[in-house]
Amino acid sequence: GRGLAVRDVVVHYPDPASGKGPGTTAVRGVSLDLAPGEVLALLGPSGCGKSSLLRAVAGLEPVAGGSIAWDGRDLAGVPVHRRGFGLMFQEGQLFPHRDVAGNVAFGLRMAGARRAAASGRVAELLDLVGLAGYGPRPVTTLSGGERQRVALARALAPEPQLLLLDEPLSALDRGLRDRLAGDLRAALVATGTTALFVTHDHDEAFTVADRVAVMDAGRLLQLAAPEDLWRAP
Ligand code: ADP
Ligand code: ADP
Repeated sequence: GRGLAVRDVVVHYPDPASGKGPGTTAVRGVSLDLAPGEVLALLGPSGCGKSSLLRAVAGLEPVAGGSIAWDGRDLAGVPVHRRGFGLMFQEGQLFPHRDVAGNVAFGLRMAGARRAAASGRVAELLDLVGLAGYGPRPVTTLSGGERQRVALARALAPEPQLLLLDEPLSALDRGLRDRLAGDLRAALVATGTTALFVTHDHDEAFTVADRVAVMDAGRLLQLAAPEDLWRAP
Protein backbone atom coordinates (compact mmCIF):
# COMPACT_ATOMS: atom_id res chain seq x y z
CA GLY A 1 0.00 0.00 0.00
CA ARG A 2 0.94 3.67 -0.32
CA GLY A 3 2.05 5.75 2.64
CA LEU A 4 3.38 4.61 5.98
CA ALA A 5 2.64 1.18 7.48
CA VAL A 6 3.73 0.59 11.08
CA ARG A 7 3.19 -3.02 12.20
CA ASP A 8 3.56 -4.31 15.78
CA VAL A 9 6.58 -2.09 16.36
CA VAL A 10 8.60 -2.56 19.55
CA VAL A 11 11.35 -0.15 20.63
CA HIS A 12 13.49 -0.67 23.67
CA TYR A 13 16.53 0.93 25.22
CA PRO A 14 19.36 -0.97 26.85
CA ASP A 15 19.67 -1.04 30.60
CA PRO A 16 21.78 2.04 31.48
CA ALA A 17 23.83 0.14 34.09
CA SER A 18 24.87 -2.84 31.95
CA GLY A 19 24.36 -1.27 28.52
CA LYS A 20 22.63 -4.52 27.53
CA GLY A 21 19.20 -6.10 27.35
CA PRO A 22 15.79 -4.38 27.13
CA GLY A 23 16.10 -2.01 30.12
CA THR A 24 13.10 0.11 29.10
CA THR A 25 10.46 -0.97 26.58
CA ALA A 26 9.30 2.39 25.21
CA VAL A 27 6.99 1.10 22.43
CA ARG A 28 5.05 -2.15 23.02
CA GLY A 29 3.67 -3.34 19.71
CA VAL A 30 2.13 -0.34 17.92
CA SER A 31 0.45 -0.60 14.50
CA LEU A 32 -0.88 2.30 12.45
CA ASP A 33 -1.23 3.49 8.86
CA LEU A 34 -0.69 6.95 7.47
CA ALA A 35 -2.17 7.73 4.03
CA PRO A 36 -0.42 10.06 1.56
CA GLY A 37 -1.29 13.68 2.33
CA GLU A 38 -2.57 12.84 5.80
CA VAL A 39 -1.47 14.56 9.03
CA LEU A 40 -1.48 12.23 12.03
CA ALA A 41 -0.80 13.36 15.60
CA LEU A 42 0.75 11.02 18.16
CA LEU A 43 -0.75 12.24 21.43
CA GLY A 44 -0.07 11.11 24.98
CA PRO A 45 1.60 11.97 28.27
CA SER A 46 5.32 12.52 28.60
CA GLY A 47 7.22 9.21 28.57
CA CYS A 48 4.49 7.17 26.80
CA GLY A 49 6.75 6.38 23.83
CA LYS A 50 5.65 8.91 21.18
CA SER A 51 9.12 10.19 20.47
CA SER A 52 10.59 6.68 20.42
CA LEU A 53 8.05 5.62 17.79
CA LEU A 54 8.74 8.72 15.70
CA ARG A 55 12.48 8.12 15.94
CA ALA A 56 12.02 4.52 14.86
CA VAL A 57 10.11 5.71 11.77
CA ALA A 58 12.94 8.19 11.08
CA GLY A 59 15.53 5.42 11.39
CA LEU A 60 17.11 7.03 14.47
CA GLU A 61 16.20 4.12 16.78
CA PRO A 62 16.44 0.44 15.94
CA VAL A 63 13.21 -1.54 15.81
CA ALA A 64 13.33 -4.53 18.16
CA GLY A 65 10.13 -6.09 16.80
CA GLY A 66 7.61 -5.56 14.01
CA SER A 67 8.18 -3.58 10.82
CA ILE A 68 7.94 -0.13 9.27
CA ALA A 69 7.28 0.28 5.53
CA TRP A 70 6.90 3.25 3.18
CA ASP A 71 4.91 2.75 -0.05
CA GLY A 72 5.12 -0.98 0.53
CA ARG A 73 8.88 -1.03 0.93
CA ASP A 74 10.28 -2.36 4.22
CA LEU A 75 12.59 0.25 5.76
CA ALA A 76 14.63 -2.23 7.82
CA GLY A 77 18.30 -1.43 7.20
CA VAL A 78 17.52 1.78 5.26
CA PRO A 79 19.62 4.56 6.86
CA VAL A 80 18.07 7.87 7.99
CA HIS A 81 19.29 9.92 5.02
CA ARG A 82 18.00 7.38 2.47
CA ARG A 83 14.42 7.34 3.75
CA GLY A 84 13.51 10.69 2.12
CA PHE A 85 11.83 11.88 5.33
CA GLY A 86 12.12 15.35 6.86
CA LEU A 87 12.65 16.00 10.55
CA MET A 88 11.76 18.88 12.82
CA PHE A 89 12.37 19.02 16.56
CA GLN A 90 11.38 21.13 19.54
CA GLU A 91 14.36 23.41 19.06
CA GLY A 92 14.68 24.05 15.33
CA GLN A 93 18.48 23.85 15.45
CA LEU A 94 19.04 26.60 12.91
CA PHE A 95 22.53 27.37 11.68
CA PRO A 96 23.40 30.45 13.74
CA HIS A 97 25.96 31.82 11.27
CA ARG A 98 23.51 31.85 8.35
CA ASP A 99 20.66 34.24 7.75
CA VAL A 100 17.04 33.13 7.33
CA ALA A 101 17.35 32.55 3.55
CA GLY A 102 20.60 30.65 4.01
CA ASN A 103 18.93 28.33 6.52
CA VAL A 104 15.97 27.60 4.24
CA ALA A 105 18.24 27.26 1.20
CA PHE A 106 20.27 24.64 3.04
CA GLY A 107 17.33 22.23 2.75
CA LEU A 108 17.18 22.91 -0.98
CA ARG A 109 20.87 22.55 -1.61
CA MET A 110 20.83 19.22 0.19
CA ALA A 111 18.21 18.26 -2.37
CA GLY A 112 20.49 19.44 -5.20
CA ALA A 113 18.72 22.66 -6.23
CA ARG A 114 20.70 25.18 -8.26
CA ARG A 115 21.28 28.47 -6.51
CA ALA A 116 19.27 30.59 -8.97
CA ALA A 117 16.22 28.32 -8.83
CA ALA A 118 16.65 28.12 -5.10
CA SER A 119 16.21 31.81 -4.33
CA GLY A 120 12.68 31.93 -5.82
CA ARG A 121 11.80 28.82 -3.90
CA VAL A 122 13.21 30.27 -0.66
CA ALA A 123 10.93 33.31 -1.08
CA GLU A 124 7.90 31.04 -1.66
CA LEU A 125 8.68 28.99 1.43
CA LEU A 126 9.13 32.08 3.62
CA ASP A 127 5.80 33.38 2.35
CA LEU A 128 4.19 30.03 3.19
CA VAL A 129 5.31 30.18 6.82
CA GLY A 130 4.38 33.86 7.25
CA LEU A 131 7.92 35.24 7.07
CA ALA A 132 7.87 37.09 3.72
CA GLY A 133 10.80 39.50 3.58
CA TYR A 134 12.73 37.85 6.41
CA GLY A 135 15.41 36.35 4.12
CA PRO A 136 18.33 38.63 5.06
CA ARG A 137 17.61 38.57 8.83
CA PRO A 138 20.28 36.94 10.99
CA VAL A 139 18.57 34.04 12.77
CA THR A 140 20.04 35.28 16.05
CA THR A 141 17.60 38.25 15.88
CA LEU A 142 14.46 36.08 15.64
CA SER A 143 11.92 35.26 18.34
CA GLY A 144 11.30 31.63 19.32
CA GLY A 145 8.17 31.45 17.18
CA GLU A 146 9.94 32.95 14.17
CA ARG A 147 12.77 30.45 14.56
CA GLN A 148 10.31 27.55 14.45
CA ARG A 149 8.73 29.05 11.33
CA VAL A 150 12.17 29.11 9.68
CA ALA A 151 12.79 25.53 10.83
CA LEU A 152 9.46 24.52 9.25
CA ALA A 153 10.34 26.25 5.95
CA ARG A 154 13.71 24.49 5.93
CA ALA A 155 12.08 21.12 6.66
CA LEU A 156 9.50 21.61 3.87
CA ALA A 157 12.11 22.85 1.35
CA PRO A 158 13.18 19.46 -0.05
CA GLU A 159 9.49 18.36 -0.29
CA PRO A 160 9.96 15.35 1.98
CA GLN A 161 7.62 12.43 1.25
CA LEU A 162 6.98 12.29 5.01
CA LEU A 163 7.63 15.02 7.58
CA LEU A 164 8.30 13.90 11.17
CA LEU A 165 7.70 16.60 13.79
CA ASP A 166 8.66 16.01 17.42
CA GLU A 167 6.98 18.56 19.74
CA PRO A 168 7.88 21.42 17.35
CA LEU A 169 5.83 23.99 19.30
CA SER A 170 6.44 22.81 22.87
CA ALA A 171 9.17 25.31 23.71
CA LEU A 172 6.85 28.23 22.91
CA ASP A 173 4.38 29.95 25.22
CA ARG A 174 0.67 29.10 25.13
CA GLY A 175 -0.72 31.92 22.98
CA LEU A 176 2.02 31.62 20.42
CA ARG A 177 1.55 27.85 20.26
CA ASP A 178 -2.14 28.20 19.43
CA ARG A 179 -1.40 30.58 16.58
CA LEU A 180 1.47 28.52 15.23
CA ALA A 181 -0.52 25.29 15.36
CA GLY A 182 -3.07 26.76 12.93
CA ASP A 183 -0.35 28.12 10.66
CA LEU A 184 1.51 24.81 10.75
CA ARG A 185 -1.62 22.94 9.68
CA ALA A 186 -2.19 25.45 6.87
CA ALA A 187 1.39 25.03 5.60
CA LEU A 188 1.13 21.21 5.66
CA VAL A 189 -2.22 21.26 3.83
CA ALA A 190 -1.05 23.84 1.26
CA THR A 191 1.97 21.69 0.39
CA GLY A 192 0.09 18.37 0.58
CA THR A 193 2.72 17.12 3.04
CA THR A 194 2.22 13.78 4.75
CA ALA A 195 3.16 14.28 8.40
CA LEU A 196 3.50 12.53 11.73
CA PHE A 197 3.28 15.04 14.57
CA VAL A 198 4.24 14.23 18.17
CA THR A 199 2.66 16.28 20.96
CA HIS A 200 1.49 15.95 24.58
CA ASP A 201 -1.05 18.77 24.01
CA HIS A 202 -4.67 17.85 23.12
CA ASP A 203 -5.54 21.22 21.61
CA GLU A 204 -2.47 21.16 19.42
CA ALA A 205 -3.19 17.62 18.20
CA PHE A 206 -6.80 18.54 17.41
CA THR A 207 -5.77 21.69 15.53
CA VAL A 208 -2.95 20.19 13.48
CA ALA A 209 -4.05 16.66 12.63
CA ASP A 210 -6.60 14.88 10.44
CA ARG A 211 -6.48 11.92 12.83
CA VAL A 212 -5.10 11.48 16.33
CA ALA A 213 -3.34 8.36 17.66
CA VAL A 214 -3.56 8.31 21.45
CA MET A 215 -0.71 6.48 23.19
CA ASP A 216 -0.20 5.45 26.80
CA ALA A 217 2.57 3.35 28.37
CA GLY A 218 3.98 2.30 25.00
CA ARG A 219 0.65 1.24 23.51
CA LEU A 220 -1.86 2.73 21.10
CA LEU A 221 -5.19 3.30 22.90
CA GLN A 222 -7.22 4.69 20.02
CA LEU A 223 -6.82 6.20 16.58
CA ALA A 224 -9.56 8.41 15.18
CA ALA A 225 -10.48 11.79 13.76
CA PRO A 226 -10.56 14.44 16.52
CA GLU A 227 -14.39 14.55 16.54
CA ASP A 228 -14.59 10.76 16.99
CA LEU A 229 -12.13 10.40 19.89
CA TRP A 230 -13.42 9.25 23.26
CA ARG A 231 -13.79 12.12 25.62
CA ALA A 232 -11.50 12.11 28.65
CA PRO A 233 -13.34 10.67 31.69
P1 ADP B 1 7.49 10.56 24.92
O1 ADP B 1 7.99 11.03 23.60
O2 ADP B 1 6.07 10.10 24.87
O3 ADP B 1 7.71 11.56 26.01
P2 ADP B 1 9.75 8.76 24.87
O4 ADP B 1 9.60 7.94 23.65
O5 ADP B 1 10.71 9.88 24.86
O6 ADP B 1 8.31 9.26 25.34
O7 ADP B 1 10.15 7.79 26.09
C1 ADP B 1 9.51 6.55 26.33
C2 ADP B 1 10.24 5.83 27.43
O8 ADP B 1 11.54 5.48 26.98
C3 ADP B 1 10.43 6.62 28.70
O9 ADP B 1 10.34 5.74 29.79
C4 ADP B 1 11.83 7.18 28.56
O10 ADP B 1 12.40 7.39 29.82
C5 ADP B 1 12.53 6.06 27.82
N1 ADP B 1 13.64 6.55 26.98
C6 ADP B 1 13.54 7.45 25.97
N2 ADP B 1 14.73 7.65 25.39
C7 ADP B 1 15.61 6.86 26.05
C8 ADP B 1 17.01 6.61 25.91
N3 ADP B 1 17.74 7.23 24.98
N4 ADP B 1 17.56 5.72 26.77
C9 ADP B 1 16.83 5.09 27.70
N5 ADP B 1 15.53 5.27 27.87
C10 ADP B 1 14.91 6.15 27.07
P1 ADP C 1 27.73 29.86 0.87
O1 ADP C 1 28.31 28.95 1.91
O2 ADP C 1 27.49 29.16 -0.46
O3 ADP C 1 28.40 31.18 0.74
P2 ADP C 1 25.73 30.59 2.80
O4 ADP C 1 24.72 29.60 3.20
O5 ADP C 1 26.84 30.91 3.73
O6 ADP C 1 26.25 30.18 1.35
O7 ADP C 1 24.93 31.90 2.50
C1 ADP C 1 25.51 33.11 2.05
C2 ADP C 1 24.38 34.06 1.69
O8 ADP C 1 23.74 33.65 0.47
C3 ADP C 1 23.32 34.12 2.72
O9 ADP C 1 23.11 35.48 3.03
C4 ADP C 1 22.08 33.52 2.12
O10 ADP C 1 20.97 34.35 2.32
C5 ADP C 1 22.35 33.48 0.65
N1 ADP C 1 21.99 32.20 0.09
C6 ADP C 1 22.68 31.04 0.23
N2 ADP C 1 22.12 30.08 -0.50
C7 ADP C 1 21.07 30.61 -1.11
C8 ADP C 1 20.10 30.12 -2.00
N3 ADP C 1 20.10 28.88 -2.45
N4 ADP C 1 19.12 30.95 -2.40
C9 ADP C 1 19.11 32.19 -1.96
N5 ADP C 1 20.01 32.74 -1.14
C10 ADP C 1 20.97 31.97 -0.72
